[in-house]
Amino acid sequence: MRLAEGGPERSLQPMIRPILKYGDRQLHEPARPVGDLTPEIDRLIADMIDTMYTAPGIGLAGPQLGVPLRIFVVDVTLGRDPSGLIVMINPEFVEREGMQLEDEGCLSVPGFNATVVRPERAVVKGLDRHGVDHEHEGKGLLARAFQHEMDHLDGTLFVDRLRGIKRDLIVKKIKKLTRAGKW
Ligand SMILES: [Zn+2]
Repeated sequence: MRLAEGGPERSLQPMIRPILKYGDRQLHEPARPVGDLTPEIDRLIADMIDTMYTAPGIGLAGPQLGVPLRIFVVDVTLGRDPSGLIVMINPEFVEREGMQLEDEGCLSVPGFNATVVRPERAVVKGLDRHGVDHEHEGKGLLARAFQHEMDHLDGTLFVDRLRGIKRDLIVKKIKKLTRAGKW
């Protein structure tokens, strides 16, 4: 990822980037903290937002684009409410409580859903795009999204949170699709 690439003709429009799928090594490794908020990081965030909305999804993490950095974007309103967009750099949990059991999917595991245990309420803190500290409280779906994206930063996908036959079935189907060149 370089900034100068392309020179003056380089488009400043956000770019939709390909989303890595389950099985790609980069999704299964922990991401490292972001250092300086460089123009490259800002560009990455713009691309993450664009890629998330285009998918469409309610969240996307750096590793899903093959960038091993601790950044995620979330918008449970799918862009309907401009204040719904949350960008978190180097996020940490402040609080987690309760439990919810809902169906969940992932842009990196297209076509598969499963019921995953998540906290009912989660508070995360981190930097926004401008390097300002922020804390966000999420309940229900937003708490679920926070936990899902935080998991991505640790190399964990929702499939890894499943147990027994549910997990085996999804992994088996993905392997079959991979062998058939359809994954
Ligand atoms: Zn995901």
